[in-house]
Amino acid sequence: MNWQPAEFFRAAGETLVCTLCPRACALADGDLGWCRVRRRRGGRLETATFATSLWHWDAVERKPLYHYRPGSEVLTLAAPGCTLRCLYCQNHRLSQFGREAGVVWGARALEPGAAIATAAGRGAAVNLDLKSLDRHRHRALTGGDPVPVLETLAILLAAGVWVEVSTPLIPGVNTDPAALRTLARTIAGLGRWTPSREVEP
Ligand code: SF4
Repeated sequence: MNWQPAEFFRAAGETLVCTLCPRACALADGDLGWCRVRRRRGGRLETATFATSLWHWDAVERKPLYHYRPGSEVLTLAAPGCTLRCLYCQNHRLSQFGREAGVVWGARALEPGAAIATAAGRGAAVNLDLKSLDRHRHRALTGGDPVPVLETLAILLAAGVWVEVSTPLIPGVNTDPAALRTLARTIAGLGRWTPSREVEP
């Protein structure tokens, strides 16, 4: 692991609270965060997510950015760790670093705050998964709450970032048509969406 100084934390009594994601881990010296890729060392936090565990070229259509610059290629880079534990994660051997044996991969669920504002200012396009609006169901599926996902979507849209949303359909779990209509209406109401984009030559 290659640990580097990290941003996004604040002091709270004897602890340092990580402000990168909604889990807000309060860390004593030496503690690892829930994601296991951020840790406290003395008066600062360190991150292991500067490492690249995986990379490959692909057509953009193979990514969950189906409408962003169609016809182009993208370089995928992935860093260790994840702040969610989706039950059906296709990368679980890679994403759940420290929880299972295996190589490392990760994605981050950013807190709607300074961290996501920073990311929004540096990103051209983002895909977010929203599994369900039902908090109990979302927590059962992912280990996290859906509200920060909705807040993050709104912030990204307000910042003018190209956003695509995926909802993995799990028969019998989140495929109720009425619930999906409500989910779609909620997403549509978060901000100004552009349904398609002219393809650049
Ligand atoms: S899970 Fe990781 S990123 Fe989230 S608050 Fe805890 S240490 Fe920070």
